[in-house]
Parts: sequence; structure tokens; C-alpha cells
Amino acid sequence: MSTQYTPRPIEPKALAQLRERDDAGRPCVPYVDEEGGSPLRCCLRPIPAGDRVALVAYAPLRRWAARTGAQPGAYDEQGPVFIHADPCAGPVEADLYPFARAGALRTLRRYDARGRIVGGRLLEIPEDTTAGFDAAFEEAFADPEVTQVHVRAVEHGCLQFVVHRPEGA
Ligand SMILES: [Zn+2]
Repeated sequence: MSTQYTPRPIEPKALAQLRERDDAGRPCVPYVDEEGGSPLRCCLRPIPAGDRVALVAYAPLRRWAARTGAQPGAYDEQGPVFIHADPCAGPVEADLYPFARAGALRTLRRYDARGRIVGGRLLEIPEDTTAGFDAAFEEAFADPEVTQVHVRAVEHGCLQFVVHRPEGA
């Protein structure tokens, strides 16, 4: 099932930098995850057991603002994300919402073109995970101010993916 809302992974350029030093200024510390299962923000899928990964601090709004010239000011924030410790191929199923487990809780935070928070909502992912996310993004982008939505896991606060307003919507 496809959707008009594209989940975005961390960009290759940012990944290359995070693999050296993260957005908190700490050196990357790779390790082998024997269990796997945590969300990979480079590939938008769970960590396969035995992959070499790192937990790094990532500031999505700051990096977006550096590209666009936006000024999120105090809305800038950083949080923990898992990434592959080595260069990887990225997402393979970009048309599916990643980490969409029915019953899981997410926050969907809405940002305007300046990078300021203009609202948000809690989402308990329903059985039809695609329809649930589609409806939540439709609701978010119904506000003309909203240009991007950040999806986070409620319990750990980690960013899962970002969706930008679709072209022409
Ligand atoms: Zn990866």
C-alpha cells in the first residue's frame, strides 16, 4: 500500500557526519547489536541482529534549518537515534510507514516554515497502520502553516521519521 506522505530517513551527508561526531559533539561509539529490533534512522527499519550500529544525538530541525536558512531558535532540540555505524543502503520500502506497530504510541509534532512548533497530537497506531498515519498527516497538513511533521516514540522520545508537506498539497 502506498501513501502520498514520504517518511524521510537521515540524509547521507548528515549520516556521514554523525558517524564521526554526533549533534551533541560526542564521538561516535559503534557496537554490534546482538539482539537488534531498535529503529534505524538511516534505513527506516528495525536493526537486524548482529549489525554494527551506534546510538547518536541528532538534531533534525537544526540540520534542516542549516539547509533552508530557517530560524527555529528555542524550538531546536536533539534526541537519541540509532544509525548503522558504517555506510548503508538506506530504506528499501520508502512507501510504507516504518516502525508502524499497532498499539504503539507516537507523538506527531507539527512545525511551520520557520521551524516553530504549531501544534501536535498523540497517535495510538490503529490496526490499519497506514490508514492511521495517513489520517494523522492529513489532519496535520490541513493547517496551511504546517510544513513538516516529526514522528517520535512516546516512551523514549526518539525521532522515528520526518514527513514534509507533499508537493501541491
Ligand atoms: Zn542503515
